[in-house]
Amino acid sequence: MNLDLAYRSFVLGVAGNPRVERLIKDRAKGLVRRYVAGETLEEALQAAEALEREGVHAILDLLGEGVKTEEEARAFQRGILELVWALAERPWPKYVSLKPTQLGLDLSEALALSLLREVLREAEPRGVFVRLDMEDSPRVEATLRLYKALREEGFSQVGVVLQSYLYRTEKDLLDLLPYRPNLRLVKGAYREPKEVAFPDKRLIDAEYLHLGKLALREGLYVAFATHDPRIIAEVKRYTQAMGVPKERFEFQLLYGVRPEEQRRLAREGYTVRAYVPYGTHWYPYLARRIAERPENLFLVLRSLFGG
Ligand SMILES: Cc1cc2nc3c(=O)[nH]c(=O)nc-3n(C[C@H](O)[C@H](O)[C@H](O)COP(=O)(O)OP(=O)(O)OC[C@H]3O[C@@H](n4cnc5c(N)ncnc54)[C@H](O)[C@@H]3O)c2cc1C
Repeated sequence: MNLDLAYRSFVLGVAGNPRVERLIKDRAKGLVRRYVAGETLEEALQAAEALEREGVHAILDLLGEGVKTEEEARAFQRGILELVWALAERPWPKYVSLKPTQLGLDLSEALALSLLREVLREAEPRGVFVRLDMEDSPRVEATLRLYKALREEGFSQVGVVLQSYLYRTEKDLLDLLPYRPNLRLVKGAYREPKEVAFPDKRLIDAEYLHLGKLALREGLYVAFATHDPRIIAEVKRYTQAMGVPKERFEFQLLYGVRPEEQRRLAREGYTVRAYVPYGTHWYPYLARRIAERPENLFLVLRSLFGG
């Protein structure tokens, strides 16, 4: 495993310790403000509005994952429905992301499917697109089943995510082709064993481009969700060289990450969306951001030691 991945694995391991969680929650306020739009829907909508003014569209995400009870899953569903209804009133492109385990996937796949179906019944007629985020590898199979089930039921405004760090992903992509998925491609943000994921960042990056080009060649709509300047440049070069129009793909970045690049891409005429997370359950999201960027760990350490 190379150093980047060893660092990520270490941080995600330590971040799971309740004492570390308490310390970070108390001391990482600056980092939270950078990556999370706020704790309320109102704050998230304000952040989205500010992005819209700069030509960047928002993907609203009520933070939450790994719920342990049905009540909790239903409470998150209620929050997501409130988001859908609020977006329906807005003039901008309407787009929501959610996590299957937020709607009870770990409790029962049938529960998650039924809660998701209810969300889509509200979202589709209001023109709200719903993206199922992809979580860690033990949930991939079930998440793909949920996506396929929803498409087979006739929903179309729903998208899926594939992660280039998993060995299995090319096969998953090929299996999904008959569904003509609206695909978000990411590298992958979780701590995965080398039995399931490439242990080398260069291989993950190469696989990302391989999968992205394959999806474009197969005629899919692809959301390239990455901040990686080399990958963004190669996607631009490849699509120009192959004559793939800008309507066939987009770039997605995270709120607070490379905001100037988000605006630049939008000015160049690409569709750009920023993933805008909000809510009180921000800890696991923040831990993943610390794990993918050593500078963020230094910021946390500095605030812990009074710098
Ligand atoms: C819109 C969006 C949706 C996502 N959805 C999912 C999902 O459903 N499932 C999933 O597993 N993962 C998801 N991810 C996370 C993804 O898997 C990666 O962990 C994350 O994007 C970092 O990888 P990278 O492609 O940006 O490249 P990296 O190789 O990690 O980084 C490339 C460069 O980008 C910049 N950068 C990267 N991360 C940060 C950061 N946190 N802060 C500041 N600069 C940074 C740095 O300059 C870095 O050198 C999503 C990412 C985005 C942007």
